[in-house]
Amino acid sequence: MFIPGSYLTGKIEFVKGIGPAKAGLLQNELGIYLIEDLLLDFPIRYLDRTKITPIAEAKSEGEYVQVKGILKDFRVMGQGRGRRLVALVSDDTGGMELVWFKSIEWMVNHLTRGMEYVVNGRVSRFRNQYNMAHPEMEAASKKKTDSFQTFIPVYRSTEKLTKRGLDTKGRNRIMKPLIAELPRDAFKEYLPDELRQKFRFADIYETTRMIHYPMNQKQLRIAENRIIFEEFFFVQLRLIKQYLTRKRDLKGHVFETVGDYFMTFYEEHLPFELTGAQKRVLREIRRDMGTGKQMNRLLQGDVGSGKTIVALLAALLARDNGFQTALLAPTEILAQQHFESLTQLTEGMKYQVAILTGKTKTAERKELLRMLRIGAIDLLVGTHALLEDRVQFEEIGLAIIDEQHRFGVAQRAKLWKKGKRLPPHVLVMSATPIPRTLHMTTYGDLDVSVIDELPPGRKPIRTLHKTEFYRSDVIKFMKQEIAKGRQIYVVYPLIEESESLDLEDLNNGYEKLLTFFPRPDYQIGVVHGRMTPDEKEKEMERFSRGTTHILVSTTVIEVGVNIPNAAVMVIENANRFGLAQLHQLRGRVGRGSYQSYCILMTGNKLGDDARTRIDTMVRTNDGFEIAEVDLALRGPGKVQGTEQSGRLNFRKADLIEHKHILKAARETAKIILEEDPDLESDKHRGIKAYLEARHKSAEWWGRIS
Ligand code: ADP
Ligand code: MG
Repeated sequence: MFIPGSYLTGKIEFVKGIGPAKAGLLQNELGIYLIEDLLLDFPIRYLDRTKITPIAEAKSEGEYVQVKGILKDFRVMGQGRGRRLVALVSDDTGGMELVWFKSIEWMVNHLTRGMEYVVNGRVSRFRNQYNMAHPEMEAASKKKTDSFQTFIPVYRSTEKLTKRGLDTKGRNRIMKPLIAELPRDAFKEYLPDELRQKFRFADIYETTRMIHYPMNQKQLRIAENRIIFEEFFFVQLRLIKQYLTRKRDLKGHVFETVGDYFMTFYEEHLPFELTGAQKRVLREIRRDMGTGKQMNRLLQGDVGSGKTIVALLAALLARDNGFQTALLAPTEILAQQHFESLTQLTEGMKYQVAILTGKTKTAERKELLRMLRIGAIDLLVGTHALLEDRVQFEEIGLAIIDEQHRFGVAQRAKLWKKGKRLPPHVLVMSATPIPRTLHMTTYGDLDVSVIDELPPGRKPIRTLHKTEFYRSDVIKFMKQEIAKGRQIYVVYPLIEESESLDLEDLNNGYEKLLTFFPRPDYQIGVVHGRMTPDEKEKEMERFSRGTTHILVSTTVIEVGVNIPNAAVMVIENANRFGLAQLHQLRGRVGRGSYQSYCILMTGNKLGDDARTRIDTMVRTNDGFEIAEVDLALRGPGKVQGTEQSGRLNFRKADLIEHKHILKAARETAKIILEEDPDLESDKHRGIKAYLEARHKSAEWWGRIS
């Protein structure tokens, strides 16, 4: 966060209290080499030494508290990995257990029964009891109250560091004099004055001092605000800069005509009225494709929101302007489904839709590729096979990518290269809603369209949570639905570590189902990951034709499958699925005009997170809301669609907690870049220098959409 200056780039070895041995440790354990690194290693939290919490009130899980009480007793329990030291402290309000799994001997030698201690630690819950693991203990009599330093910073540490005296106390012995003697002129302010005034930020020197040793809560907040803002701000600045540069420089085909293909389809073939959201999104796409710049647009829409028709209309627009379109799907089944529905939709038009997958026979493929080269195919649907070099278009103008998270960056680059003079416009379709906050930090350089409205007449899926106890009711319900002519999915989770275990789960479940749904009255099909693609497809087809009543499967049906008559989904061990996955799965039902159901089966006991996931599913069908909860539960690194990002390792900033700061940072970055795209004005010199100094060598990923 600082512009390098000679003082700040000094080696930590020469800082008072460090020396070569400790310097080596800090380097190896935490990657701290320079004074700057040391200053940038912000406290992870603070101990407020003035505040003692009564034990009876120390009940919020995960919170750091300080309690004061008599050490009643302690003893070593368990063996091997379960070996632990358990102690009991109590004050006037109650008692609390303390546990150590490490450094047991040392603790035993240093603790005294009957003595009063000040205990600092994090409250956790175990078997409905509140306790603390590895708290810091200090004899109450020894504890001096530092009259003016109430906040003690706590830094990252490791076992090695703790052992060598670089625990909280040791680190403070170094940090306190360093901060106290920090030379003001070592810092050069880089944020423009007006920006600092607007947000009431302290200057960089004061911010640094206050983040390490705040005098009070207010100072801490002021310092944190600036740091969090900066973390977001510089990311946004780069993303938006990238985006603007691309907008300015990347030429694209101009689709100016709305011609016969589009109009004929719209007026004579469209089987329904477009929803308002579909119309809006289509306008956005049309506008993009008319600007002369390459479109890079992400089309987000929940499952069933009707992305396909939008894609087709965009493809027809391309055709009206003399260009071909490629549509990439992640699996054979999906490619096939797209091919079928697109062929059907354009029936009676002189519009040639074709499919190319890994299974296309050689002779057929040869002919297909020839037709493609001479422009006799207008829309080519396919899988990865489309990316091969031998697939040459006469002139491709639009590439549509379905279910984007299955495609890597390199693959997308291959598509770009298929354009002869210019890269095709790119429309990425995703059914995985990404929370806006995450969006701003990961796809901030893409244009986004959202279909936030479902086609009319859909009955919202009803989601129920049932425990094993109600199994027979569920079976009865399934029978009723089958009697009404509906079909049912029964899904088992897939755990990657143990495929055989899954299979066992699934097979047991299947056997059990057979006893409830005997042949020949009922037909049950099975699909799982161990089957060959051919076998899978056959089973899917039987189900799709209505030959089987129930399809038992692992999560292989997750993506895109469209069988409107399947109105019930039973998800076994639903607690073992992630939220995004549950939502995707549920999207397989509710595709026809029937009332659909999703039944989440679990055991009686559920962990906190599992409970939240299940409750969320029962409460809402809104993919964006679900994505927000998912983000809150798992953190930004794990949310589907952004796994590869790894770019979200902020020090202080939190996408959920600091949403409003993110918004302000993004707005500010936008305003600055609109006014001064290359950051050339005097007041932005600091920002520019910062960007260059900090990220010269860092590979910038945002270039590729
Ligand atoms: P997804 O966004 O999940 O890809 P699809 O494009 O497969 O959704 O559309 C889901 C279903 O909704 C399809 O059967 C489609 O024909 C239908 N559909 C799409 N748009 C509309 C609309 N505006 N009115 C009625 N039905 C629609
Ligand atoms: Mg789809």
